[in-house]
Amino acid sequence: MSSTRQYIEVALPLPVRKTFTYEVPQDLGEAPSPGKRVLVPLGRRLLTGFVLGPAPPLPAHTTILPIREVLEDDVSLSPKLLDFLLWTSAYYLQPLGEVIKTSLPAGTQTRSKETIFLTPKGTEALEILKPESIEKQVLEELARKAGQGITSSSLTRKFSTPIRSLLRKMQEKGWVGKKEDLEMPPVRGKKINWVRVRPFPEEISLTARQREVATFLQNAREIPVAELKARFKNASAVLTKLKAHGLAEIVPQEAFRQPSWEGLEDWIDGPPSLLTEDQDRALREIVASLDSRKYQPFLLHGVTGSGKTEVYLRAIDQALSRGRQALLLVPEISLAGQLVAYFRARTPYPLAVLHSGLSAGERYDEWRKVKKGLARLVIGVRSAIFAPLESLGIIIVDEEHDPSYKQDDKVRYHARDLALVRGKMEGAVVVLGSATPSLESYYNAREGKFRLLSLPKRIDGRPLPEIQVLDMRLEQGEGRERSLFSLPLRKALEETVARGEQAFLFLNRRGFSTFALCRDCGFTYRCPNCNVSLIYHLPDRTFRCHYCDHTLFAADRCPQCASSSLLLFGSGTQRLEEEIKKMIPQIPVARMDRDTTTRKGSHQKILGQLRRGEVNLLVGTQMITKGHDLPRVTLVGVLAADLSLNLPDFRAGERTFQLLTQVAGRAGRSDLPGKVFIQSFNPGHYSIQMAHAQDYTGFFEREVQFRRQMNYPPFVRLVNLRFEDNSEKRITRFAQALEGLVQRKFKEDPKLGKHLEALGPAMAPLGKLKGRHRYQMLFKGKQWKSLHDFVEKIRAEMEAEIPGRGVKLIVDVDPVHML
Ligand code: ADP
Ligand code: ZN
Ligand code: ZN
Repeated sequence: MSSTRQYIEVALPLPVRKTFTYEVPQDLGEAPSPGKRVLVPLGRRLLTGFVLGPAPPLPAHTTILPIREVLEDDVSLSPKLLDFLLWTSAYYLQPLGEVIKTSLPAGTQTRSKETIFLTPKGTEALEILKPESIEKQVLEELARKAGQGITSSSLTRKFSTPIRSLLRKMQEKGWVGKKEDLEMPPVRGKKINWVRVRPFPEEISLTARQREVATFLQNAREIPVAELKARFKNASAVLTKLKAHGLAEIVPQEAFRQPSWEGLEDWIDGPPSLLTEDQDRALREIVASLDSRKYQPFLLHGVTGSGKTEVYLRAIDQALSRGRQALLLVPEISLAGQLVAYFRARTPYPLAVLHSGLSAGERYDEWRKVKKGLARLVIGVRSAIFAPLESLGIIIVDEEHDPSYKQDDKVRYHARDLALVRGKMEGAVVVLGSATPSLESYYNAREGKFRLLSLPKRIDGRPLPEIQVLDMRLEQGEGRERSLFSLPLRKALEETVARGEQAFLFLNRRGFSTFALCRDCGFTYRCPNCNVSLIYHLPDRTFRCHYCDHTLFAADRCPQCASSSLLLFGSGTQRLEEEIKKMIPQIPVARMDRDTTTRKGSHQKILGQLRRGEVNLLVGTQMITKGHDLPRVTLVGVLAADLSLNLPDFRAGERTFQLLTQVAGRAGRSDLPGKVFIQSFNPGHYSIQMAHAQDYTGFFEREVQFRRQMNYPPFVRLVNLRFEDNSEKRITRFAQALEGLVQRKFKEDPKLGKHLEALGPAMAPLGKLKGRHRYQMLFKGKQWKSLHDFVEKIRAEMEAEIPGRGVKLIVDVDPVHML
C-alpha cells in the first residue's frame, strides 16, 4: 500500500474550540485547498466544514475518517478571508467553526439526515404480520414512502410507541435498513429559464403575428421566458416552432432576488455642486492614501450636518473608479435604507446590501453577488465586515461610536475594530466617521495612530442648534402637577407645531410606565425570570419584561393586598405619546421604538410620513437619534437625560454625551434654525454640560481623565468572563472555584500582577436573566496578548473541570455592554 496518505485539518461549525483531521481519499487526487467546503462524517452525522490546510501529525493508531465529498465552489472562502476569520477567532477567543458560520449567510449548510427504508425481506414480512401489529403499521408506512425513505423523527411523530428500539429490532431481523441522505441546504440559488436565439434564415415560414415575436427575439437575443410570455400571448407557439428548427434554446440561468427599497428614491436631491473646503480637504487626504495602496486609518470627526455622507460617497467612487472595491458599514437597518437609496441614485457601480432586514433568500443572493464579483460596493450592518470582497480599497464605518457594532450573542466581535484589522490585511483605507467619536478612536487619533480629519462646521454655515438645559428639580417643584414636560419645552412644542414645523421628542425607554408600586404593601411587579421590574404597556394593559418578554395582565387591585393604591411610576414612550395627545389633541403623532418597528419597512414608513408632512411630531427611543436627515425638524426635546447616565456601566457618561449630541443634531439641518431642550435631574454632570456646550474635545478631556484614573479603556484592555446557570448553588460554587484558580495563578507567578488585574467574580448588574443566574469576572490588562492568553488559560481549565456541570461560560473580549 502506498504510504502517501494525505490528511487535512477541517473547521466544523460547532461550538467547540478544536479542529478536526480527515483523510483525503486516494481517488480524489490532490487535497482540497484551504477555504474549500467539504462534507465530513462526525459521529453518525455528516457536516459541512471548511478546509484549513494540511493537518499536523496525529498520534499513531488514531482512527481518521476520510472526507466524503468536496462541495462545489459557491460558498468557499478565499485564503485571504480565511486568514481574517482565523484572526477573528484567535483575538476574540471564539471557536473558529462558529466564526466561519457567522461570516456566511444563514441556511447554506448542507447536512445529513438518516432515513429508514423497507428491505425486500421486510416486504415479505408484511404478508405474514398480523394486521393490528405495530410492526406491520410501520412497514406499511415505509412501503408507502418506498423510494424516498422516511426519517426516524417523522416516524416517532406518527406512532406513539418508542420507535427507536422497535426499529432496532426490525433492523436486526433485516426488515428495514438505514441510510444517510444529504439534506439540501434550505437556502439555495434560484435559476430561471432564458430564451437564447440564433439569427433566423429568411425562408422560415411564420405568420405575421409570429414574425412579430421572432423580430423581437432577434433584437433581444436573450430574454427570460417568463418576460417573453408576459409580452406576447403566442410566445409558447413561436418558441416551439423556433426550437424545432434549432434556432432557439432554453437556458437556465441564475437569478438574483432583488431586495426592494420602494418609496425611497423620490426624496433624493441632486448632488451638491461643490464640496465645502473642509470636505474637499478630507477627501483629498483619503484619495492620496488610496493611491499609495497602503493601510491607512482615518477618523473623520464631523459635527452633525457637516456632510460626512458626501465625503463617504466620493471617496468610495474614487476607490471604485480605481478598480477596487468598497465596504460601507452602518449601525442599523433603519439607516441602511436611507444610505442605499442615496448611493443607488448617485453611483453607477453595482452594489449589494447585507443586513438582517432581508429574507434569507435575498441575503444569500446579495452575498453571492459579492462573491462572484458582481457587486463592487457593499453596504451593510456589522456582519458585512465578513463580506467576501476580494480587492477592498476602502472600508468606511459610519457612526463608528455606535454600540450596535458590537455583537453580543453567539460570536462576540466588534465590527469597527475588525474593520481596522481587515483594512490592514488588505492594504485598504479605513475611515471611521462620527460626530461623537468613541473615546478609544479619538484617543487613537490623538496618539497619532489614526489620521484625524475634521468637518467642524455645518453645511452652508448653518448654525448648530441652540441648546438649553432644564433643571427638572426646579421645574417639578412643590405643588406643580407632575408632567413629563417642563413649561419651556411644552411652550416651544406648541409654537413649533403652530408654525407647521416638526419636532422630535426623545425618551430612552419604551412602554408606558417603568414600574407599579403598591402604596399600602410595597408590592411591585417583577419578572420571575429576570429579577427586573415589569414595564406597563398600553393599550393591552399588560406588564412586560423587556428582557424575556414575560407578560402579565394588569390587575385593578394589588395582587398581594388587594388595595386599590397600585400606582404607576416612571414613563416610557407610550405614556409620552398619550400625554402629547392630551396636550395638543389636534396634532398627529408618530412613535418609533421597538414596539412600533417590528414589521419590515416600518422605519421607512414612519420616516416617509414625516418627510411628506403627514406627521409633524415624532416620539421615540434612541432609534430617533440616529442619522436621520429631516429638513423640517426644528425642535428636539430630551425628556429624561438621566436615564442613560444612571446605568451601572463605565461608559454611561460617554453614551449620554453621544445620545444627547446626536439627537440634538437632528434639529435645524436646513435653513430653519434648530432649538434643543434637555431635561435633567442632574444638570451639573459633565456629560450634560459638555453636550450643552457642544464641546466634544472638552468632553473628551474630562472623560479620558476619568478612564485613566479608574484604569479603563483606552488605558487597559478588558475581557469579561461571564458564567450563567439556572441553579444558584452551582453558580456560586463555580464562582468560588474560579476565584480560587485565579488567585492561585497570581500567587504562582507574581509578575502577572504587574500587568494584569482581575475584578470579581461578582453578580452581573442583571443578576438574573431569562431564568439564569449571571455572574462575571472582569480582567484588565496592559497588553491584549498576555491578557487574552491568560483568560483563555483560565477558561480552558475551568471548562475542563467545571464543578457544577451545565454552567455556561461566555468570553467577551473588549466588552461593550456589561450588564
Ligand atoms: P452628516 O452625516 O455629517 O450629519 P449629511 O451628510 O447628512 O451630514 O449632510 C447634511 C446635508 O448637507 C445633506 O442634506 C446633504 O445633502 C447636504 N450637503 C452635503 N454636502 C454638501 C455640499 N457640499 N453642498 C451642499 N449641500 C451639502
Ligand atoms: Zn399591596
Ligand atoms: Zn424577564
